[in-house]
Formats: sequence, C-alpha cells, structure tokens
Amino acid sequence: MTRALVIGGGIAGCAAAIALHRIGVQAEVSEAGSDDHAETGAFLQIAPNGMRALAVDPGGFAPGGMVSRNARGRRVGQMDVGDDPRRYGARVVVLERWRLLEALRDRVRALGIPLTVGARLQRLEAGADGVTAGFADGGTARGDLLLGCDAPAPAPARCSCPRPRRPSTPA
Ligand SMILES: Cc1cc2nc3c(=O)[nH]c(=O)nc-3n(C[C@H](O)[C@H](O)[C@H](O)COP(=O)(O)OP(=O)(O)OC[C@H]3O[C@@H](n4cnc5c(N)ncnc54)[C@H](O)[C@@H]3O)c2cc1C
Repeated sequence: MTRALVIGGGIAGCAAAIALHRIGVQAEVSEAGSDDHAETGAFLQIAPNGMRALAVDPGGFAPGGMVSRNARGRRVGQMDVGDDPRRYGARVVVLERWRLLEALRDRVRALGIPLTVGARLQRLEAGADGVTAGFADGGTARGDLLLGCDAPAPAPARCSCPRPRRPSTPA
C-alpha cells in the first residue's frame, strides 16, 4: 500500500489525509503545533463542492444568500444559494475556522489515521525508493510520497530546495 507523509495537520493537511485514505493511500499526519487550537481565526465560508469534498459535518450555518457591497456600502452583486442542495448536493456553510479544523482532526483520528502533534519537519531526504522526513525531536518517518501542507512557508519546499529562484516580472 502506498504510504504518504502529510506535513501539517491544519485544514489542508487533514483534508488531504482524509482524501488519501478514501483512495486507499495510507497517510500519516505530522503537525508541529498542538491540539490547542481553540478559537484561532475568525469565520470562513465553504462552497458546496468544498463541503462535498471534505465529507465532514463541522456545524456552522447555511446562509440563504450572499450580498457583495463596495467600500461605500453600495450593493454590487448578490447570489442566491437557496437552491444549492438540489443543484450541487450540498450547501454553502459559514463557520468559525477552529470548528472546521477540530472536525477535520476528529475525522482523521476516527479513521485511524495517525496524527502526531509536536512533530516539526526539519529535514527531508528523497530518493528513488521514497522519502524520509526528519523531525525536530530527532524522530524520522518514511513514506512513498510527502505532501507539504504547512502553509504559509512550506518546510518541505525549504528542505528540498533551500534557495528557490524568485519569480521575476517581465520588463
Ligand atoms: C491563526 C490563523 C487564523 C486564520 N483565520 C482565518 C479565518 O478566520 N478565515 C479564513 O478564511 N482564513 C483564515 N486563515 C487563513 C488560513 O490560511 C486558512 O484558513 C487555512 O487555515 C489554511 O489551511 P492550511 O492547512 O493551508 O494552513 P494552516 O491551517 O496554517 O495549517 C498549517 C499547519 O502546518 C503546521 N506546520 C507549520 N510548519 C510545520 C512543520 N515544519 N512541520 C510540521 N507542521 C508544520 C502548522 O502548525 C499548522 O497547523 C487563518 C490562518 C491562521 C494561521
């Protein structure tokens, strides 16, 4: 069975681990932080396709519609989302970010996917037979592939390419 190392147990890392599990890839999540993520962030909105892909029920509320306004408060657009369940099979959901993270971590653990907290990626060795991740506490993990989900400055990218070329703007 293919084995994937997922670096970062945030929203992207947990969602990726759940999706990998669904297609039969054995995932393992390494998270530098702790489980103490209570109430970090504010609100976010998940579109129906996102809700279907995530396949968790994180709570929150489903708005009946959305209105966009410009800086002066003038209405510049609106979207009716009441029909979304029939059209897309799911609703737009608005919720606190930490609730989504908590629901995803709970789902990861309920599926039996290992999620280690306090595991900060520090080194990376990639070869023809897979990848070895080295963590700050001296531990290591081996996998066939590695997903860097530790935004905003992915450690896997820094480990494998310490001096990336900067994008340039054409003159
Ligand atoms: C504190 C905070 C609050 C936010 N609030 C909102 C909000 O209210 N609404 C909104 O729309 N967006 C918000 N954002 C924007 C945010 O980009 C997204 O909501 C979402 O969290 C992105 O998911 P992610 O998994 O890519 O990144 P993150 O959720 O940031 O997850 C990355 C994870 O990688 C871990 N990590 C970092 N380095 C390493 C390493 N070397 N080894 C292992 N693990 C590592 C981090 O501890 C973290 O848990 C917030 C971001 C942060 C950081």
